[in-house]
Amino acid sequence: MFMKNALRRVAKKKTIQSAYHLLESCELCPRVCKVNRLNGEKGFCGIGAKAVISSAVPHYREESVLVGSGGSGTIFFAGCNLGCVFCQNYDISQLRHGNNVEIDDVVNMIMQLQTRKCVNINFVTPTHVVSHIIESVFLARKRGLTIPVVFNCGGYESIEALQLLEGTIDIYMPDAKYLSHDSSEEYSFAHDYPSVMKLALLEMYKQVGDLEIKDGVATRGLLVRHLVMPGNVACSKEIIDFLAK
Ligand code: SF4
Repeated sequence: MFMKNALRRVAKKKTIQSAYHLLESCELCPRVCKVNRLNGEKGFCGIGAKAVISSAVPHYREESVLVGSGGSGTIFFAGCNLGCVFCQNYDISQLRHGNNVEIDDVVNMIMQLQTRKCVNINFVTPTHVVSHIIESVFLARKRGLTIPVVFNCGGYESIEALQLLEGTIDIYMPDAKYLSHDSSEEYSFAHDYPSVMKLALLEMYKQVGDLEIKDGVATRGLLVRHLVMPGNVACSKEIIDFLAK
Protein backbone atom coordinates (compact mmCIF):
# COMPACT_ATOMS: atom_id res chain seq x y z
CA MET A 1 0.00 0.00 0.00
CA PHE A 2 2.82 2.36 0.99
CA MET A 3 4.64 1.49 -2.26
CA LYS A 4 1.47 2.07 -4.32
CA ASN A 5 0.93 5.51 -2.77
CA ALA A 6 4.57 6.45 -3.30
CA LEU A 7 4.34 5.48 -6.99
CA ARG A 8 1.13 7.46 -7.34
CA ARG A 9 2.82 10.55 -5.88
CA VAL A 10 5.77 10.21 -8.30
CA ALA A 11 3.37 9.89 -11.24
CA LYS A 12 1.44 12.99 -10.10
CA LYS A 13 4.64 14.99 -9.75
CA LYS A 14 5.54 14.06 -13.34
CA THR A 15 2.09 15.20 -14.46
CA ILE A 16 2.60 18.54 -12.70
CA GLN A 17 6.00 18.98 -14.40
CA SER A 18 4.48 18.17 -17.80
CA ALA A 19 1.72 20.71 -17.23
CA TYR A 20 4.18 23.49 -16.37
CA HIS A 21 6.35 22.47 -19.31
CA LEU A 22 3.44 23.42 -21.60
CA LEU A 23 3.75 27.02 -20.35
CA GLU A 24 7.32 27.43 -21.63
CA SER A 25 6.06 27.88 -25.17
CA CYS A 26 2.45 28.00 -24.20
CA GLU A 27 0.28 25.24 -25.63
CA LEU A 28 -1.98 24.91 -22.64
CA CYS A 29 -5.06 25.63 -24.74
CA PRO A 30 -5.99 25.48 -28.43
CA ARG A 31 -4.76 29.07 -29.03
CA VAL A 32 -1.18 27.72 -28.93
CA CYS A 33 0.23 31.23 -28.41
CA LYS A 34 3.81 29.91 -28.04
CA VAL A 35 4.76 32.61 -25.51
CA ASN A 36 7.01 31.74 -22.57
CA ARG A 37 4.66 32.30 -19.66
CA LEU A 38 7.21 31.04 -17.15
CA ASN A 39 9.28 34.11 -18.12
CA GLY A 40 6.28 36.37 -17.68
CA GLU A 41 5.27 36.62 -21.35
CA LYS A 42 1.53 36.74 -21.99
CA GLY A 43 -0.64 35.40 -24.79
CA PHE A 44 -4.33 35.74 -25.59
CA CYS A 45 -5.43 34.94 -22.01
CA GLY A 46 -3.27 37.75 -20.62
CA ILE A 47 -1.87 35.73 -17.70
CA GLY A 48 1.84 35.03 -17.17
CA ALA A 49 3.58 32.66 -14.76
CA LYS A 50 1.38 33.27 -11.74
CA ALA A 51 -2.33 32.66 -11.51
CA VAL A 52 -4.47 35.71 -10.77
CA ILE A 53 -7.51 35.20 -8.53
CA SER A 54 -10.39 37.59 -8.22
CA SER A 55 -12.27 35.88 -5.36
CA ALA A 56 -12.64 32.64 -3.41
CA VAL A 57 -16.06 32.45 -1.76
CA PRO A 58 -19.03 30.13 -1.16
CA HIS A 59 -21.41 30.76 -4.07
CA TYR A 60 -25.14 30.03 -3.82
CA ARG A 61 -26.23 30.96 -7.34
CA GLU A 62 -24.38 28.22 -9.22
CA GLU A 63 -26.19 25.31 -10.91
CA SER A 64 -28.39 23.85 -8.13
CA VAL A 65 -26.62 20.46 -8.00
CA LEU A 66 -23.37 22.24 -7.16
CA VAL A 67 -24.75 24.35 -4.31
CA GLY A 68 -26.12 22.03 -1.60
CA SER A 69 -26.41 23.53 1.89
CA GLY A 70 -22.90 24.99 2.12
CA GLY A 71 -22.60 26.60 -1.30
CA SER A 72 -20.17 25.93 -4.11
CA GLY A 73 -16.58 26.86 -3.21
CA THR A 74 -15.87 29.07 -6.19
CA ILE A 75 -12.38 30.27 -7.04
CA PHE A 76 -12.57 32.84 -9.85
CA PHE A 77 -9.46 33.06 -12.02
CA ALA A 78 -8.76 36.29 -13.89
CA GLY A 79 -8.06 36.13 -17.64
CA CYS A 80 -9.63 33.80 -20.18
CA ASN A 81 -8.72 31.95 -23.37
CA LEU A 82 -11.98 33.09 -24.99
CA GLY A 83 -13.17 36.64 -25.58
CA CYS A 84 -16.95 36.31 -25.43
CA VAL A 85 -18.64 39.64 -26.06
CA PHE A 86 -21.50 38.67 -23.71
CA CYS A 87 -19.32 37.55 -20.78
CA GLN A 88 -21.06 38.10 -17.43
CA ASN A 89 -17.65 38.23 -15.67
CA TYR A 90 -16.10 40.73 -18.09
CA ASP A 91 -14.18 42.63 -15.39
CA ILE A 92 -12.53 39.38 -14.29
CA SER A 93 -12.09 37.55 -17.60
CA GLN A 94 -11.13 40.48 -19.83
CA LEU A 95 -10.05 43.32 -17.51
CA ARG A 96 -8.30 40.71 -15.30
CA HIS A 97 -9.17 42.24 -11.97
CA GLY A 98 -7.56 40.18 -9.19
CA ASN A 99 -4.37 39.43 -7.28
CA ASN A 100 -1.32 37.42 -8.27
CA VAL A 101 -1.17 34.33 -6.08
CA GLU A 102 1.38 31.68 -5.15
CA ILE A 103 0.41 28.00 -5.16
CA ASP A 104 0.35 27.96 -1.34
CA ASP A 105 -2.25 30.75 -1.41
CA VAL A 106 -4.46 28.66 -3.70
CA VAL A 107 -4.10 25.63 -1.42
CA ASN A 108 -5.06 27.76 1.59
CA MET A 109 -8.13 29.10 -0.23
CA ILE A 110 -9.19 25.54 -1.11
CA MET A 111 -8.82 24.35 2.47
CA GLN A 112 -10.69 27.37 3.84
CA LEU A 113 -13.62 26.75 1.49
CA GLN A 114 -13.78 23.13 2.64
CA THR A 115 -13.66 24.26 6.30
CA ARG A 116 -16.57 26.63 5.53
CA LYS A 117 -18.60 23.53 4.51
CA CYS A 118 -18.72 24.19 0.79
CA VAL A 119 -19.83 21.06 -1.07
CA ASN A 120 -17.16 21.31 -3.76
CA ILE A 121 -14.21 23.36 -5.00
CA ASN A 122 -15.32 25.09 -8.18
CA PHE A 123 -12.54 26.48 -10.40
CA VAL A 124 -14.13 29.15 -12.61
CA THR A 125 -12.39 30.01 -15.93
CA PRO A 126 -9.60 27.50 -15.27
CA THR A 127 -8.34 26.59 -18.76
CA HIS A 128 -5.29 28.86 -18.84
CA VAL A 129 -4.14 27.82 -15.32
CA VAL A 130 -4.44 24.04 -15.58
CA SER A 131 -0.87 23.55 -14.30
CA HIS A 132 -1.55 25.62 -11.16
CA ILE A 133 -4.79 23.70 -10.56
CA ILE A 134 -3.18 20.25 -10.83
CA GLU A 135 -0.45 21.26 -8.38
CA SER A 136 -2.71 22.99 -5.86
CA VAL A 137 -5.27 20.14 -5.79
CA PHE A 138 -2.45 17.62 -5.34
CA LEU A 139 -1.14 19.58 -2.33
CA ALA A 140 -4.62 20.22 -0.95
CA ARG A 141 -5.48 16.51 -1.07
CA LYS A 142 -2.32 15.84 0.93
CA ARG A 143 -3.69 18.31 3.50
CA GLY A 144 -7.08 16.58 3.65
CA LEU A 145 -9.19 17.89 0.75
CA THR A 146 -12.04 15.41 0.26
CA ILE A 147 -14.84 17.33 -1.49
CA PRO A 148 -15.24 17.08 -5.31
CA VAL A 149 -13.28 19.37 -7.62
CA VAL A 150 -15.19 21.12 -10.43
CA PHE A 151 -13.64 22.38 -13.69
CA ASN A 152 -16.02 25.17 -14.74
CA CYS A 153 -14.85 26.13 -18.24
CA GLY A 154 -15.80 27.54 -21.63
CA GLY A 155 -15.28 24.29 -23.54
CA TYR A 156 -12.31 25.57 -25.56
CA GLU A 157 -9.83 23.06 -24.17
CA SER A 158 -6.84 21.14 -25.48
CA ILE A 159 -6.98 17.35 -25.26
CA GLU A 160 -3.43 17.22 -23.90
CA ALA A 161 -4.30 19.53 -21.00
CA LEU A 162 -7.48 17.56 -20.26
CA GLN A 163 -5.51 14.33 -20.19
CA LEU A 164 -3.15 15.87 -17.63
CA LEU A 165 -6.21 16.76 -15.53
CA GLU A 166 -7.42 13.15 -15.33
CA GLY A 167 -7.62 12.15 -11.67
CA THR A 168 -7.60 15.80 -10.50
CA ILE A 169 -11.11 16.72 -11.67
CA ASP A 170 -14.29 15.04 -10.41
CA ILE A 171 -16.86 17.15 -12.22
CA TYR A 172 -16.40 18.84 -15.58
CA MET A 173 -18.81 21.70 -16.26
CA PRO A 174 -18.02 23.05 -19.74
CA ASP A 175 -20.09 25.39 -21.86
CA ALA A 176 -21.23 24.17 -25.26
CA LYS A 177 -21.51 27.62 -26.79
CA TYR A 178 -21.91 27.31 -30.56
CA LEU A 179 -21.78 24.93 -33.47
CA SER A 180 -21.41 27.72 -36.00
CA HIS A 181 -17.86 28.72 -36.95
CA ASP A 182 -19.01 32.22 -37.90
CA SER A 183 -20.73 32.79 -34.55
CA SER A 184 -17.72 31.39 -32.70
CA GLU A 185 -15.47 33.86 -34.47
CA GLU A 186 -17.82 36.82 -34.20
CA TYR A 187 -18.76 36.43 -30.52
CA SER A 188 -15.79 34.58 -28.95
CA PHE A 189 -12.87 35.11 -31.39
CA ALA A 190 -12.42 31.35 -31.80
CA HIS A 191 -13.31 30.15 -35.30
CA ASP A 192 -12.47 26.50 -34.52
CA TYR A 193 -14.57 26.43 -31.32
CA PRO A 194 -17.18 23.89 -32.56
CA SER A 195 -14.74 21.10 -33.43
CA VAL A 196 -12.50 21.79 -30.41
CA MET A 197 -15.46 21.82 -28.01
CA LYS A 198 -16.90 18.56 -29.33
CA LEU A 199 -13.60 16.69 -28.90
CA ALA A 200 -13.09 18.22 -25.45
CA LEU A 201 -16.53 17.13 -24.23
CA LEU A 202 -15.89 13.59 -25.46
CA GLU A 203 -12.59 13.47 -23.53
CA MET A 204 -14.28 14.82 -20.39
CA TYR A 205 -17.07 12.26 -20.68
CA LYS A 206 -14.51 9.50 -21.14
CA GLN A 207 -12.86 10.52 -17.87
CA VAL A 208 -15.85 11.08 -15.58
CA GLY A 209 -18.99 9.71 -17.29
CA ASP A 210 -22.59 10.69 -16.55
CA LEU A 211 -23.36 13.09 -13.73
CA GLU A 212 -23.77 11.31 -10.38
CA ILE A 213 -25.92 13.02 -7.76
CA LYS A 214 -26.24 12.10 -4.09
CA ASP A 215 -28.78 13.82 -1.82
CA GLY A 216 -29.27 16.49 -4.48
CA VAL A 217 -25.56 17.30 -4.81
CA ALA A 218 -23.30 16.32 -7.74
CA THR A 219 -20.37 14.11 -6.80
CA ARG A 220 -18.85 13.22 -10.19
CA GLY A 221 -19.47 13.41 -13.92
CA LEU A 222 -20.08 15.75 -16.83
CA LEU A 223 -22.54 18.66 -16.63
CA VAL A 224 -22.84 20.74 -19.80
CA ARG A 225 -24.15 24.30 -19.94
CA HIS A 226 -25.66 25.85 -23.04
CA LEU A 227 -26.75 29.45 -23.46
CA VAL A 228 -29.64 29.78 -25.90
CA MET A 229 -29.15 32.95 -27.93
CA PRO A 230 -31.51 34.98 -30.14
CA GLY A 231 -31.73 34.12 -33.85
CA ASN A 232 -30.29 30.60 -33.40
CA VAL A 233 -26.83 32.14 -33.18
CA ALA A 234 -25.67 29.15 -31.12
CA CYS A 235 -27.32 26.35 -33.21
CA SER A 236 -29.04 25.13 -30.03
CA LYS A 237 -30.90 22.20 -31.59
CA GLU A 238 -27.72 20.78 -33.14
CA ILE A 239 -25.93 21.10 -29.80
CA ILE A 240 -28.71 19.21 -28.03
CA ASP A 241 -28.57 16.52 -30.74
CA PHE A 242 -24.80 16.23 -30.24
CA LEU A 243 -25.19 15.90 -26.47
CA ALA A 244 -27.96 13.35 -26.82
CA LYS A 245 -25.83 11.18 -29.11
S1 SF4 B 1 -3.28 29.40 -22.12
FE1 SF4 B 1 -3.15 31.57 -22.68
S2 SF4 B 1 -1.08 31.88 -23.48
FE2 SF4 B 1 -1.45 29.65 -23.38
S3 SF4 B 1 -2.13 29.10 -25.42
FE3 SF4 B 1 -3.97 29.51 -24.21
S4 SF4 B 1 -4.47 31.68 -24.50
FE4 SF4 B 1 -2.35 31.34 -25.21
